Amino acid sequence: MNIATLPTTLETHSAEETQNAGELFSARLQAGDVICLTGDLGAGKTTWTQGVARALGIENPLSSPTFVLMNEHFSSKTHSSNTYSSNIEKSITLLHLDAYRLEDADEETLRDAGIFDFLQREDAIKIIEWPQFIADYLPSPRYEIAIESVEGKENTRRISFAQTSTR
Ligand code: ADP
Ligand code: MG
Repeated sequence: MNIATLPTTLETHSAEETQNAGELFSARLQAGDVICLTGDLGAGKTTWTQGVARALGIENPLSSPTFVLMNEHFSSKTHSSNTYSSNIEKSITLLHLDAYRLEDADEETLRDAGIFDFLQREDAIKIIEWPQFIADYLPSPRYEIAIESVEGKENTRRISFAQTSTR
């Protein structure tokens, strides 16, 4: 995980701008990183994730996984020959989890749903919508991104970024 300084908040004014924010953010991501996205239904969590997918070279359209819980997307980019070059040159799998339906799930249900296997994947970037429903199991460090509407401004969203400490 890259601990370079992050902007703490920014405002976007369209879905496209939120995708661009996700695309820019992804430059700092490495395989194994966990990104938690909070915000109400329709805030733009999936839209932001679409920007990450675009940066990773994922070509199939990324939809909300609400009804399937988890989606795995494979990059169509080929591996860079230079191991030390920006990860954006490499193909990294994106795992996209929507925990919305796991609000009341017990540990056994989470295990059966593959949540613990998901969290252990070190080969992929892991994005979690509704992370509060699996709060007890989230690893640290992780990125925490909150997306909020702005009252009276229909297409404006305020996006804030934070990173949990290593312990
Ligand atoms: P979530 O995953 O948080 O439930 P989605 O990303 O699926 O939300 O949907 C966000 C909706 O809001 C989309 O229909 C999108 O077009 C619209 N929208 C309008 N303005 C913005 C913005 N600034 N950022 C993100 N989405 C926006
Ligand atoms: Mg969503």
